[in-house]
Amino acid sequence: MSTVLIGSYPHRLIVPDLPAPAEYLPLLQQMHESGWYSNFGPLVRRLEGELLRTFGATEESCVTCCNATAGLSAALLATGRTGQVLLPAYTFPASLGAVRAAGMTPVVADVDAESWTLAKDRLDGALAETGASVVMLVAPFGMRRDWKAELAICRKRGVAVVIDNASGLGGQRPAQGYGEETFEVFSMHATKPFAVGEGGVIFAHRAHDAALRAALNFALNSYDKTEGPAWGFNGKMSEFHAAIGLVQLTRIGDMVDRRQAFAAVYRDRLVQYPEIVCPQDTTCATWQAFPVLLPSAMAAEGFIETAAAAGVEIRRYYRPSLSRWPETRCFEACPVAEDLAERMCVLPVRALSSGPESNEIPDLVLETIDRTLTRH
Ligand SMILES: *Cc1c(COP(=O)(O)O)cnc(C)c1O
Repeated sequence: MSTVLIGSYPHRLIVPDLPAPAEYLPLLQQMHESGWYSNFGPLVRRLEGELLRTFGATEESCVTCCNATAGLSAALLATGRTGQVLLPAYTFPASLGAVRAAGMTPVVADVDAESWTLAKDRLDGALAETGASVVMLVAPFGMRRDWKAELAICRKRGVAVVIDNASGLGGQRPAQGYGEETFEVFSMHATKPFAVGEGGVIFAHRAHDAALRAALNFALNSYDKTEGPAWGFNGKMSEFHAAIGLVQLTRIGDMVDRRQAFAAVYRDRLVQYPEIVCPQDTTCATWQAFPVLLPSAMAAEGFIETAAAAGVEIRRYYRPSLSRWPETRCFEACPVAEDLAERMCVLPVRALSSGPESNEIPDLVLETIDRTLTRH
C-alpha cells in the first residue's frame, strides 16, 4: 500500500482542466437575467445543439443530464425494456449502479483479453442463455470502437444497447450513428477530459428524444401515455453546468490534441518494454488517463509504490472486477476481468504538449517502470 496521501502528490493522477470563471461569467449573467436555472433551459438547449453539431450523427439527438450514471439509467428506461441487462465485468462501478437505479437486474460477463470489452464471441451465447433485453457495452478508458459486430448480434436478437463511453467525450463518433436501438452516454465530471464539474450527455436516435427527457424529468410528460417511460427521476443538467460546457466546447479540440500527443510520448517510450501492453492508436481516445497493463499483479503493486515515492500518483483501474462486487449475478466466471483489474495501471495525462511538466511526468514514469521491471 502506498504511504503517500492522495493530496500530497506533486503529480496527481488527474488535474481537472476547466475554464476560468471569467470565461463563463457572461453566460451566468444571461442565466440570471432569464431567471431560468434548470429544466432544459436556454443554455442547456444551446449546449445540446452545439454538441450535436460537433459530435452527433444524422438522425441523432443529444440530451444532457446531471451525470453519466444518471444518463445511463435514463437510457435504460428509454429503451422501454425491463429485466436483465448484460454488462462487462471490467468497468467502473457506475455501470452496475446505473442498471440497479433503473430498476433492472445486472448480469455480469467476462471481457476479451485483447480488447478489454464484452466482445462478440461471448455476447451471442450470453444473450441466448440469459435472455437479457439490453446490453450495456463499455468503451474502456473511452477508447473508440465501431461496435459493428456486437451491434449486429444485438440487432439480430432484438436487444437494445446502451454504450457507456463515459470518459470519451471530445473524441470522434461514427458519422452514421449506431442505429435506432443504441444509446451512447458520456460524462462531464471534473475528472474527465470534457469537464464541467458534474454533467453528462446522451446521444441516441432522435426517436428517443422525448423518452430520454421524460426519464430525466420524473416521467411527467409520459406517465399517462403509451409511449415513453412510466416513471423517471430528476437527472437534468443545470444551466450553471451548461454555461461551463459551452466554454469547454471551445477548448476541447485543442485539449484533445495535446492529450493525445502526451499519450503518444508514453506509447513511444514504452516500446522498449515488450512485457508492457498499452494502446498503440493514441488518437482513439481523449485519455482521461493512459492505461498500461503490467506483466503481473506484483509488478503493478511495485510500480504504484515506486511511482508514489517519486511523487507520481498512479492507480489501478476498474478494480475490483464487477464479478467481485457484492450481490452481483455473474453469467460466468470472469478470470480475464479479474486479472486485468489487478494488472492495469493508469498514468497521468495532461493537456500540455511542451513545457517542463510535459517531460517531467513521462520521465518519472519511465524511470519508475524501468526500476519496477528490473526488480520483478
Ligand atoms: C466516469 C465514469 C462513469 C461515471 O460518470 P459520472 O458522470 O461520474 O456519473 C461511468 N462509467 C465509466 C466507464 C466512467 O469512466
